[in-house]
Amino acid sequence: MTNNTWSENILFVLVGTTHPGNIGAAARAMKTMGVTQLHLVAPLHYPSAEATARASGADDVLAKSVVHADLASALVGCDQVYAMSARLRHLQVPVRDPREAVADITPRVHENKPVAIVFGREHSGLSNAELDHCHQLIHIPANPDYSSLNLAAAVQVMAYELKMEFDSAIDPGRIGEIRQSVTSDDLEYLYTHLEQTMITIGFMDPDKPRKLMRRLRHLFNRADLDQNELQILRGILSAAEKHHGNDEGGEKT
Ligand code: SAH
Repeated sequence: MTNNTWSENILFVLVGTTHPGNIGAAARAMKTMGVTQLHLVAPLHYPSAEATARASGADDVLAKSVVHADLASALVGCDQVYAMSARLRHLQVPVRDPREAVADITPRVHENKPVAIVFGREHSGLSNAELDHCHQLIHIPANPDYSSLNLAAAVQVMAYELKMEFDSAIDPGRIGEIRQSVTSDDLEYLYTHLEQTMITIGFMDPDKPRKLMRRLRHLFNRADLDQNELQILRGILSAAEKHHGNDEGGEKT
């Protein structure tokens, strides 16, 4: 699955969110990971300027979000429903960590079956009646003495795990400049130029070269130079030669 088609089958459902800022922060967390389907169940204050402000550029996710009166209506058509829970409860439903849950989610999404991931209220999480709609629990392993993440942080962790499963490749075009490798011929030209320049500027005595060139070859062979770096070095050598008034032949290659 490429681009964002995978995300169309993954609904993030926020239940009874109290602070609109958290809705905005959740939308932002989703968008950074390419997760797009936001559903809100009876949010306390929504729409809200604070939600838009905290979404900070993810307002398209907010604009597309769907508001429902209750959880059941948000889950219509879903193949499997996962509840995000900060507490481990004594319920007869399987509990998985996000990565295990993603392994369970993946085949369903590939079969084009929508799944819902349900997040609870900031203070009280999900009610038992709401949990009754959920088939599995997802718990983010955390400090047992302090296991409750901020709502948007929990959204971020889950969205990241999904992103890693469906679309983890780092686009090489975004890494920056592509390094162009040098050939061994290029390096030989550099070494000839270097030797010539060192003689010109009096750094190396051609009658007593010692092991200088061998050492410098080892140094530059280790350095994994790219074309750009090679040109810089050759530019320095040419400038040094010019400075010594020995530039008649131009650059020696
Ligand atoms: N005090 C609430 C926690 C609310 S945090 C409680 O004890 O239930 C808001 C929501 O973020 C939770 O309902 C849950 O959906 C999600 N969340 C926070 N920490 C989590 C964790 N460690 N694992 C899974 N979900 C978590």
